[in-house]
Amino acid sequence: EEDLALLSGDGAFEDGDGFTGPAPVLAIVGRPNVGKSTLVNRILGRREAVVEDTPGVTRDRVSYPALWNGQRFTVVDTGGWEQDARGMASRVAEQAEIAVELADAVLFVVDATVGATATDEAVVRMLRRTRKPVILAANKVDDERGQLEAAVLWSLGLGEPRSVSALHGRGVADLLDVVIETLPEVSAIAGPVEEGGPRRVALIGRPNVGKSSMLNKLVGSERVIVDNVAGTTRDPVDELVSLGGRMWRFVDTAGIRRRAHQASGADFYAALRTQTALEKAEVAVVLLDASEVLSVQDTKILSTVIEAGRALVIAYNKWDLMEDERRHYLEREIERDLVQMTWAPRVNVSARTGWHAERLVPAMDKALASWDARIPTGRFNAFLGELVAANPHPLRGGKQPRILFGTQASSRPPKFVVFTTGFLDPGYRRFIIRRLRETFGFEGTPIELTMRIRE
Ligand code: GDP
Ligand code: GDP
Repeated sequence: EEDLALLSGDGAFEDGDGFTGPAPVLAIVGRPNVGKSTLVNRILGRREAVVEDTPGVTRDRVSYPALWNGQRFTVVDTGGWEQDARGMASRVAEQAEIAVELADAVLFVVDATVGATATDEAVVRMLRRTRKPVILAANKVDDERGQLEAAVLWSLGLGEPRSVSALHGRGVADLLDVVIETLPEVSAIAGPVEEGGPRRVALIGRPNVGKSSMLNKLVGSERVIVDNVAGTTRDPVDELVSLGGRMWRFVDTAGIRRRAHQASGADFYAALRTQTALEKAEVAVVLLDASEVLSVQDTKILSTVIEAGRALVIAYNKWDLMEDERRHYLEREIERDLVQMTWAPRVNVSARTGWHAERLVPAMDKALASWDARIPTGRFNAFLGELVAANPHPLRGGKQPRILFGTQASSRPPKFVVFTTGFLDPGYRRFIIRRLRETFGFEGTPIELTMRIRE
């Protein structure tokens, strides 16, 4: 047996390992019993089964951090799909299709002792349509004699079959060299790396809504400044603030406190600050001035948060100035101008008096929990099935696009992909998102839904 000194384990990559950006993702695809789990264990340098398959239980994607020759990557194992009435071939092809969608490269595993089956060919047809790089592993080539069987797999048209024996480790090192060559250094697919530590908050809003007043109220005397890069005053500064018994990291607070210098070009710098703060933050608290009519700048800032894909809390500040007449109008204004953001928790506060400022904490918690949430593929497909059964897509020119299946591709924020036989009307897509919110909550987070149309 070859001894593969591979590094493995959860949390293998911490801050300071010298890697920047999310690790590239390698999806392992293939029909049952070709040796995917064995190969994954090989790659991770483990002996025991990665996950115990319980028959009849659908297991979702599982990712593991891996390292080869100083290059990190994420292995995504998509196995464990239940066989259903549609048969194994379509099931495996679906699984492969999802995996491909979510990966930077695909490792397609075929059992060389069996040769290419109809199921394998179904997967190949799907793989050919994608632009993702595919590496073909001919597994169970335990000795020289198997080489010939592996060579036959050239016929699949996926390039050179890389013969390996996942069981004995034969050829796995060479295969991993190819994997590393094929993968980009930083994933083009995976979301931002999850950093530990306090959750990061951007306190934003147009000039004069009360950002620095609110910051001062929240910070009180407990202010800890971090990231104060020496020298320039332009450097964003974060402050650690204890709220609700936990630390929160308010990002780019220097920009809030520097308002005296914002005389000229204020709008431009405000927009720039919003952008940089959002890049660093997980949740945005957007302050609006409750005593004034919602402005174009306010709605722009709110849209920026949604475009940036951050969790959102809306805080109506200066509530102490609220008058009954305005209060009545405000409700209508919310219905009219904030319809796209009715999912965002709203809190009425006063930065001046500190009234209800503590209510920001549960609102941020809720928004972040939704932002982090993951719906298992099985549940999402059950949801889609029920939705389509009750409300099929309207007929268009006698035809009806069908939703085949879907998956939540990522979280932070939640992104869903649905595979369809045709274009779904924007209205129908909005309907799906609305139903997603009704069914699963998602209060405080934007949701993305994309289609993949299969011919
Ligand atoms: P999966 O369903 O694709 O994850 O396949 P598994 O990893 O569970 O392997 C299925 C069976 O094939 C198991 O009995 C493995 O021990 C066996 N197997 C996997 N890799 C090899 C190999 O390289 N050579 C041989 N001879 N058997 C293998
Ligand atoms: P920023 O530009 O968003 O940082 O806003 P500031 O915190 O500097 O506030 C702008 C003005 O609004 C100041 O005069 C504050 O005193 C006032 N202000 C801020 N919050 C409140 C509030 O809750 N109620 C009232 N009445 N005034 C406030």
